[in-house]
Amino acid sequence: MTDLETNIGKLNAHLERFRAEGIRNLIGGASVPAASGATFETHSPVDESLICKVARSSAEDVNTAAEAAKVAFPAWRDMPAAERKKILHRIADLIVERAEEIALCECWDTGQALRFMSKAALRGAENFRFFADRAPSARDGQNLPSPTLMNVTTRVPIGPVGVITPWNTPFMLSTWKIAPALAAGCTVVHKPAEFSPLTARILAVIAHEAGLPDGVWNLVNGFGEDAGKRLTEHPDIKAIAFVGESRTGSMIMKQGADTLKRVHFELGGKNPVVVFDDADLDRALDAVIFMIYSLNGERCTSSSRLLIQDTVADAFLKKLTERVNNIRVGHPLDPATEIGPLIHKEHFDKVTSYFEAARADGATIAAGGQRVGDKGWFVRPTLFTGATNDMTIAREEIFGPVLTAIRFRDEKQALTLANDTQYGLTGYVWTNDLTRALRFTDALEAGMIWVNSENVRHLPTPFGGVKASGIGRDGGDWSFEFYMEQKHIGFATGQHHIPRLGA
Ligand code: NAD
Repeated sequence: MTDLETNIGKLNAHLERFRAEGIRNLIGGASVPAASGATFETHSPVDESLICKVARSSAEDVNTAAEAAKVAFPAWRDMPAAERKKILHRIADLIVERAEEIALCECWDTGQALRFMSKAALRGAENFRFFADRAPSARDGQNLPSPTLMNVTTRVPIGPVGVITPWNTPFMLSTWKIAPALAAGCTVVHKPAEFSPLTARILAVIAHEAGLPDGVWNLVNGFGEDAGKRLTEHPDIKAIAFVGESRTGSMIMKQGADTLKRVHFELGGKNPVVVFDDADLDRALDAVIFMIYSLNGERCTSSSRLLIQDTVADAFLKKLTERVNNIRVGHPLDPATEIGPLIHKEHFDKVTSYFEAARADGATIAAGGQRVGDKGWFVRPTLFTGATNDMTIAREEIFGPVLTAIRFRDEKQALTLANDTQYGLTGYVWTNDLTRALRFTDALEAGMIWVNSENVRHLPTPFGGVKASGIGRDGGDWSFEFYMEQKHIGFATGQHHIPRLGA
């Protein structure tokens, strides 16, 4: 039996339960269908086959979930942090135990290659451990004495929060948002993306099995325009942590306006990787390829615009084209596969529409530009050369394995091109000139920048974007800043003068 056949066998065993029961919501600790009984179907992008039916929630289900989160909040907030820490570590333990199942299901549901997803499941566990360890210090504050008062600050959890996640690496991203919310003492209503509901269900069940009290974590499946929208409008939901498209973020801000919702947005990107001629070009090549073609290019931090210096562009692009043509597209459960299918027909149509856009704009399709096979949503990894920064392929987030290469003359032009975008999530700079690296990163408009490196996530550092790429930061203490309220309390230390009116 090949590795692929073995993995398919294991996957089918895991899918049996989903096929028999479908995916239900988890509200107040109970697995329940949508109140209306409505469902929708989730299909695998690999062969378009039906995976299972999923609860299609409406406002009524969201109301019930928000009520459960509200009822559970005081006890969860007041539980000693050391207890919360233990439960979150137990969630991490169970994720590790079921990491293979999570990875296989994630691949089948999203089309992501197993080589990346097995690590993503474990990273989910790490997210829980990281925030579990910080739970005991989440409420810590400062002592800021003044002449007449002892002023102290403390942080308190904001209340029940809504978490809305996208379909790219949905498992890892859900843990990334939910773990700090729970560690801070908030209760959660999670609305996962409709295209990828499998692992969100596994995760919520794991949390329940780990001993999380009923109602602390509620899962509501459904579409953005009804379940998602209601969550953002619900008066008992105090904040919305959202990961998704910039356009949706803007809608959520409007939807949440009447209830003055606090929002945290991790949105789209059109991230530049800038390669100067003095860089280690072999390492730069590896990183350029990894940062756009891993995870099917369905990655917010992907470097989708290559800015390459004229002096080395011909040789660099030649090697790049050869490597891109060698990338292995295949079944996501085959350990040799580097790129699997795109998530869904809708997204496939969007990504492939840029092949025509590139031609129409006069760019060259140096690699790829075609579908692979006639079943499933596979595309060849694609490279556009001869592009300029005003072309559609350089301006819009394609969110697939598609790279647009643009040449530049000098540092000044590279910076202008890099910043000439509505987005500002990440930037990657390759140079061995230290002073240039310092200058360039200072002026680059991005929330996260790596110099001579691909994106290497370190959990204590701030994660987030500027411009249309987001509002707020995750990671380290920044996550707690979002899920908690600062409170100041002043204690008089003596009999200071109080102005006497009407005396
Ligand atoms: P999307 O915005 O279409 O959907 C994301 C989630 O929002 C889904 O759960 C969806 O149901 C929900 N939603 C849609 N409309 C809604 C509404 N009106 N009210 C409330 N919820 C609504 O995004 P997607 O296509 O699932 O994901 C891809 C996008 O996510 C890309 O733009 C990518 O860059 C971005 N992303 C960003 C980061 C980051 O950290 N910056 C990380 C991952 C993905």
